[in-house]
Amino acid sequence: MTDATPVIAFSHVSRRYTTGRGEVVALDDVSLTVPHGEWVAIVGPSGSGKSTLMNLIAGIDRASSGTVRVSGHELTTLSEERLARWRGQEVGIVFQFFQLMPTLTALENVMLPMELRGRMWRGGNRRMRAMTLLDRVGVAALAAQLPSQLSGGEQQRVAIARALANDPAILLADEPTGNLDSATGERVIELLHDLTDGERTLVIVTHDARLAERAPRVVALADGKIVRDSAHELVEHPVMLDAAGGV
Ligand code: ADP
Repeated sequence: MTDATPVIAFSHVSRRYTTGRGEVVALDDVSLTVPHGEWVAIVGPSGSGKSTLMNLIAGIDRASSGTVRVSGHELTTLSEERLARWRGQEVGIVFQFFQLMPTLTALENVMLPMELRGRMWRGGNRRMRAMTLLDRVGVAALAAQLPSQLSGGEQQRVAIARALANDPAILLADEPTGNLDSATGERVIELLHDLTDGERTLVIVTHDARLAERAPRVVALADGKIVRDSAHELVEHPVMLDAAGGV
């Protein structure tokens, strides 16, 4: 895959649910492409389809119609087993409530995705890689601590290190600052930015206006549709320079 190939390509994707009260359209004919290395914030009111979009990118959920191509694979055609393998390799996910394993230390939490994946990082290498990642997110000194012994911000740093364990092409973050005070959230945003910065694609679902502001591209959803995509806004130049360079 070249850098010009979109890492995420949704074409006319809908996700419908049949409920006791009829059909709910969580995503309605959404088309979206995200190139490699881009940082996108997904915003919108509660119920607008943000989590559904995120779950489809992660291959946690499947589209009712349309095609979902992510990191070189058409997800709708993959078996559950291949989808799980693909996800473990290509996607790292950061959650609002961290979702660390409570009985494992910070280091073991970061090693876990490598162990689940098996082949790539062997034995001692996993431990070393996990330590390097904990160091990169600034919590190497806390490697032996259990999640309950860590602050929210520290837990989120460990969760970010865990999301990077298998060196995924895409990092997805669902309200990553939603459970943190604003100063801690600010540092987590900076960290996410430093860690991805062109190297991998970062998609963040957020209610946090400051976080959305930081993202170079903002996609807004309402009622399951994209209602604004800053990448497709016309850049207007109301003030023209005259030939002499003056206004
Ligand atoms: P957001 O993340 O923006 O709050 P969601 O993607 O969770 O929005 O939900 C979009 C819409 O789809 C909402 O109306 C929600 O009630 C509905 N929805 C989501 N998941 C389900 C489900 N499993 N069953 C029925 N309706 C669902």
